Amino acid sequence: MSQETRTLVEASQTLGAAFLAGLRPHVRCLRGKRMGPVKVEPCGHATELDLESLIWTRGAKYPCWRLTSRLKCPRCGGMAVELAWLPGGSPAARAGRDLHQCVVASGRG
Ligand SMILES: [Zn+2]
Repeated sequence: MSQETRTLVEASQTLGAAFLAGLRPHVRCLRGKRMGPVKVEPCGHATELDLESLIWTRGAKYPCWRLTSRLKCPRCGGMAVELAWLPGGSPAARAGRDLHQCVVASGRG
């Protein structure tokens, strides 16, 4: 997925819409990427977040772009985190998993 696509996804999508689109939030800690006067040990901790859990806690209408500011690396405590929405499971795997609130949040309700 290109940087441009990512930005579009983050800017326009709600968690619910991302869920229906089969996107999965992948996070990566950026600590150590920045060049500064103090040498910082790179972290690079990366994982995939559970989107359905996020919907349970934040709500289906929560905007995707807002997640980034709420994320904190559990390994180093760094707040500089990169969030990428990557295509996940097949449409068949998602069939029957449509959650009404997600449909509403995506504007299809
Ligand atoms: Zn980290």
